[in-house]
Amino acid sequence: MLRGPGTLGAANRGRAPYPARYSAFGLLRRGVMAEDWPAAWRPQPLKKSYDVVIIGGGVHGLAAAYYLAVNHGITDVAVLDKGYLGSGGSGRNTAILRSNYLTPEGVRFYDRSLTLYQRLATDLDFNVMFSRRGHLTLAHNDSSLRTMRWRAEVNKVEGVDSEVIDPAEIKRLAPPLDLSQDARYPILGALWHPPGGIIRHDAVVWGYARGAASRGVHLHQETEVTGIDVTNGRVTGVRTGKADIAAGVVLNATAGWCSLIADMAGVRLPVQTFPLQAAVTEPVRPFLRTVIVSGSLHVYISQTDRGELVFGASVDPFTSYSMRGSLEFIENVATHVLELMPSLGKMRLLRQWSGLCDMTPDFSPIMGHTPVEGFLVDVGWGTYGFKAGPVSGEAMAQCIADGKPPEIISAFGLARFAEGDLVGEKGAAAVGH
Ligand SMILES: Cc1cc2nc3c(=O)[nH]c(=O)nc-3n(C[C@H](O)[C@H](O)[C@H](O)COP(=O)(O)OP(=O)(O)OC[C@H]3O[C@@H](n4cnc5c(N)ncnc54)[C@H](O)[C@@H]3O)c2cc1C
Repeated sequence: MLRGPGTLGAANRGRAPYPARYSAFGLLRRGVMAEDWPAAWRPQPLKKSYDVVIIGGGVHGLAAAYYLAVNHGITDVAVLDKGYLGSGGSGRNTAILRSNYLTPEGVRFYDRSLTLYQRLATDLDFNVMFSRRGHLTLAHNDSSLRTMRWRAEVNKVEGVDSEVIDPAEIKRLAPPLDLSQDARYPILGALWHPPGGIIRHDAVVWGYARGAASRGVHLHQETEVTGIDVTNGRVTGVRTGKADIAAGVVLNATAGWCSLIADMAGVRLPVQTFPLQAAVTEPVRPFLRTVIVSGSLHVYISQTDRGELVFGASVDPFTSYSMRGSLEFIENVATHVLELMPSLGKMRLLRQWSGLCDMTPDFSPIMGHTPVEGFLVDVGWGTYGFKAGPVSGEAMAQCIADGKPPEIISAFGLARFAEGDLVGEKGAAAVGH
């Protein structure tokens, strides 16, 4: 079930240079010569042993593999996924990027990710379509405004561009919003974050996969991990539906499934899995430049470069591993979107979908070592983990190479739950994105 650009150019496998350098000239030449592109990555045999096994072929697992190879020269690495690369949250999210979080630890962490995202297209030689268009979080009451002022101050101290703006400025940035005072939920102000934006999520996944594979990392799709071997408190390998694999280090990067994988190693995670849904409309002429979020109404809206409107909400109100859409979600989201933008009444929805979110009690991730030596986690990504892909990959690669977590993730260790040292991000991360 190899999807994405890995399937491109199958006929050329073996003769075209690998990996191809993507360029406008290359595109023109191949167009004129009617020449296909070589595969972006190639299937490899499953070895009996790897230095590092990464479970989960989403943005986190693939980014960790890429930075292990690029930053540390560690290439005896396998990424295992039970489905296809990007089949989890990484291929289902609404691709909103921002760094306007609430805690200094969160702001610094997500801001490093935005910095990496800005140069990712060049680093990966892959057009990831990052569009910095600004991010508006609306306040419909005084308590939301108070939290936004708090966030804006923390952001400024950390050097991140965020400010609270008034309704006149909001109207200038997002004309379709209903800013009248007789709206059902009048808009009192907003947190404006110019560096925020959207990206093409599949391209990020494919770019990291291609970058890692071209440096020797093995990508194994349809390879489900069914067990983890631990001897004397140390991980020794994983079992899969295809074969057992020995490994000195195993990284759990399985997001919505992470507590199932941790259970296999005998590690308990304070994580619950909830479905999160999103929907997209038919494409229309561009009219909405910024990303718009309403925490009180539990809804957010952005317009893609192709013109579709993307709608999202908070997680479903029950734990589940189901990835089915529901009528309740679409009714709710449509109601709230129309409360914010009544002019969208005639737009037609194209489709809706769902993914799984691994929620932690403090809305911050869990990263680093566990009580089982050699078994690491990069989980707890909830509804907000896509934006963290690059910084997490960079930090987890460093954690594996150095044997200790780098400063930027030191606040996110598993031990914080036992120690009562939480990193409370609910005020900045409760709505799904
Ligand atoms: C609808 C929706 C909208 C979202 N919007 C945003 C957003 O706008 N911005 C943002 O930052 N985040 C958003 N998110 C969250 C984001 O998608 C996730 O946090 C992020 O993609 C997690 O990436 P990951 O690589 O950790 O996990 P995933 O991409 O979920 O990858 C985990 C992989 O593990 C594999 N796996 C599971 N079990 C096994 C096993 N036993 N053996 C082998 N492989 C296994 C799965 O097949 C899967 O491919 C959204 C999520 C959803 C569902």
